[in-house]
Amino acid sequence: MTSECSEGKRDSCKLHCNSKKVSYKQTHINFPPTQCTTLENGLRVASEDSGAATVTVGLWIDAGSRYENENNNGVAHFLEHMAFKGTAKRSQTDLELEIENMGAHLNAYTSREQTVFYAKCLKEDLTKAVEILADIIQNSKLGEQEIEREKGVILREMQEVESNLQEVVFDHLHSVAYQGTSLGRTILGPSKIIKRMKKQDLEKYISIHYVPSRIVLAAAGGVNHNELVEAADENFESTKSFCKEEIPVLKPCRFTGLYFTLQLIIRKY
Ligand SMILES: [Zn+2]
Repeated sequence: MTSECSEGKRDSCKLHCNSKKVSYKQTHINFPPTQCTTLENGLRVASEDSGAATVTVGLWIDAGSRYENENNNGVAHFLEHMAFKGTAKRSQTDLELEIENMGAHLNAYTSREQTVFYAKCLKEDLTKAVEILADIIQNSKLGEQEIEREKGVILREMQEVESNLQEVVFDHLHSVAYQGTSLGRTILGPSKIIKRMKKQDLEKYISIHYVPSRIVLAAAGGVNHNELVEAADENFESTKSFCKEEIPVLKPCRFTGLYFTLQLIIRKY
């Protein structure tokens, strides 16, 4: 008797289930609010304060392989590598020691649509982390020797990517789905472009894309929004290093994958 679910029990079960349903609004009640500020130079600052002892803070830049062409494909990723090779203020060793002494973590990644530089650190070091992030993207030395050395690193990275089936599949998927558009190209670019990459190519890409209006400074964890805005104001105040070239208008990328897939299905049946 007791093992069977009686009508009454089902009703109480329904009630129980209904009582657990929460609205979209309710699910956000305990989330800290996201605070956003846009600086005069166009840089957007966003933060979410959870009161944690640590914070993750980073720069999300509208720069990736989608903003490249057939002559500079791979430049966004190349720049990501160069950011860790020293700036006008700090050598590569200084940078590494500084991060290590803060017990922090500094990293970056390049996707098709974004280049991201971020740090994880104690909340007390938020201002310092913002200063370092601003320095590596605005004052990167882009030394000729380091550029040459990095070409070898990137070519080796390409070999690794080629042996990673998941990466290979996604590159093929993009090349088919977005044929003839910049989204169809790879993030690392072809080796012939990497081999002939020059300081001027990197500088040009920075001058067009690393501009405040294309950057979001975002932080989550133990972060005071006003403190973050102040740090952004101090470290991204100057726009003199940025070129006033017109920001490129992104052309829509034609999706060709569906047509391709349908053709395969039709052929199959
Ligand atoms: Zn890389």
